[in-house]
Amino acid sequence: MHCLHCGKCCHRTEMELSLKDIQRLASAGFRPEDFITVHGDVPRLRNVNGWCYFYDPFKRRCKAYKLRPLGCRIYPVIYVEGEGFTLDKLCPMRHTVSEKEFKLKAKTLKKLLAKIDLERKAFLTLL
Ligand code: SF4
Repeated sequence: MHCLHCGKCCHRTEMELSLKDIQRLASAGFRPEDFITVHGDVPRLRNVNGWCYFYDPFKRRCKAYKLRPLGCRIYPVIYVEGEGFTLDKLCPMRHTVSEKEFKLKAKTLKKLLAKIDLERKAFLTLL
């Protein structure tokens, strides 16, 4: 897909994190307590002043782009309860996602969500 870096997906994010995402960001020096919040027993990216902790709204860039969570790489493919895998209408560039890319990302997202679900208990014991 072609991303405009408009930041719409980084505003009031609810992106779920896997332990691998957390470890990757923590090993680069980011403190988990700074970038994680927990909702519904699931670790998610924390917002600061309405923006993802890693997003710089002035530069319109992610401070951890190369290390960003897998869910951010998969976006704008999302899973909606009762609808299934779909493209997020919030993203103005969703039309640039090819059918092949959509299928691949949906498959990866399915695995990621199952992994995060399994990790939920492990994550809670780390808190
Ligand atoms: S909303 Fe879409 S175009 Fe904008 S930054 Fe996110 S992925 Fe890129």
